[in-house]
Amino acid sequence: MSRCFNFSAGPACLPEPVLKELQDEMLEWGDERASMMELSHRGRGFLSVARAAEADLRNLMAIPDDYAVLFLQGGATQQFALIPMNLARPDQGADYLLTGSWGKKAYAYGKGLCRARVAASSEAQRFSAVPAVDQWDLDADAAYLHVTPNETIGGVEFFPRPFGSVPLVADMSSTILSRLLDVSDYGLIYAGAQKNIGPSGLVLVIIRRDLLERCPAQLPPLFSYSQQAANESMLNTPNTFGWYVAGKVFRWLLAEGGLAAMGERNRAKAASLYERIERGEFYSSPVDPACRSWMNVPFKIHDPALEKGFVSEAEAAGLHALAGHRDVGGMRASLYNAMPQAGVDALIAFMDEFERRHG
Ligand SMILES: *Cc1c(COP(=O)(O)O)cnc(C)c1O
Repeated sequence: MSRCFNFSAGPACLPEPVLKELQDEMLEWGDERASMMELSHRGRGFLSVARAAEADLRNLMAIPDDYAVLFLQGGATQQFALIPMNLARPDQGADYLLTGSWGKKAYAYGKGLCRARVAASSEAQRFSAVPAVDQWDLDADAAYLHVTPNETIGGVEFFPRPFGSVPLVADMSSTILSRLLDVSDYGLIYAGAQKNIGPSGLVLVIIRRDLLERCPAQLPPLFSYSQQAANESMLNTPNTFGWYVAGKVFRWLLAEGGLAAMGERNRAKAASLYERIERGEFYSSPVDPACRSWMNVPFKIHDPALEKGFVSEAEAAGLHALAGHRDVGGMRASLYNAMPQAGVDALIAFMDEFERRHG
C-alpha cells in the first residue's frame, strides 16, 4: 500500500475501514447480486441503507425528534440560495455573520433573495478572528442569523449560542461530526458531505420542523425543504452512492466511540500541530488563538519564498495537498475525522526536518 496522508480540504480523506468495506461490497451488496450503485432508490435494499444511515446520524449527533434530516444534492453552495428562499420572505431581513470567505459567499447569495444584512464582519482583520459578540448588530426580527462555525479557508472556528428567538442557521460543512454539540442550539444545520461525511455530491440539512412551515408553497418542490422532508429526500433520485457511503462513515464513527471520543481526538491532533507551529519563529499561524480551527489549520513560513518548496517536498514525502487556498496562500493542513494522529505526527516530523534544512 502506498496511500498518502491526505490533508486536502475537500473532497477529503475517508476512513480506510470504510473504503475497504466499499471494496468488498463493490460487485455485490448483501444478497442483491448487484452493486449498491445499481439498485433502485425505491427498492428494499437501498431503503434499508438510507433509513439506517439517518438513524445512525440521529444517534451520533443526538438529533431531537422535532428535527427533520434531509439528504440532498447541490452541495452547501445550493443551500446558500435555498435557505433564504425557504426561510425568509423577500421583504424580510436576514442577518449574516461574516468570519470568512464561505460566510461572505452565503451572504452574497442571500442578498439577491431577501433583505440580507451583515450583522458583523472580520473582513477588515482579513478574517483572522471572530468579531466580539458585543459588536454584533443583530436584528431581533430577522428571519435567521447565518453563521459559519468553521471557515474552511481561513481556519477560524467558533460555536455561537442562540440569541433570543432568531433561529441560528449554520454552515457546518467542515466541522460537522468533529465534536459533540447541541443540535437544539440551531434552527438549521447544513453540511456538504465531502469534508467529514463521505463523497461529494451529497449535502445534509438538519432542520427544526417548525421552520418547515415557512417554506413558500409556490417553490418548485425540489427546492422546498418541507416538500423534501415530506418525501424523505426522494422527490427524485437521490445520490444513492453518497448516502450509502455516508451511512458507513456514521457506523464507523459510532464504532470509534461517537462524537465525544472524536472531539477528544480532534482536539489533541490540532493541539499537537499548533504547538509545533508556535515552537520557534520559523512557522506561524495567522489566526487569533481564541478561534483556531481543529479541522483546517493554515500556517505560514517566515520566508514565503520557502513555501512552494515545502508543499512540493511534503507531497514527495507522502503528505498530500498541503498548499493553502489560492486566495490566502501559505499552507493549510485539514485534519478531518479520517486523518489519524499518525498523519499529524508525520507532518510535524516533516516540519522539523524542513526547518533543520532551511532554518
Ligand atoms: C466546502 C465548503 C462549502 C462549499 O461546499 P460545496 O459542497 O462545494 O457547495 C461551503 N461552505 C463551507 C464552510 C465549506 O467548507
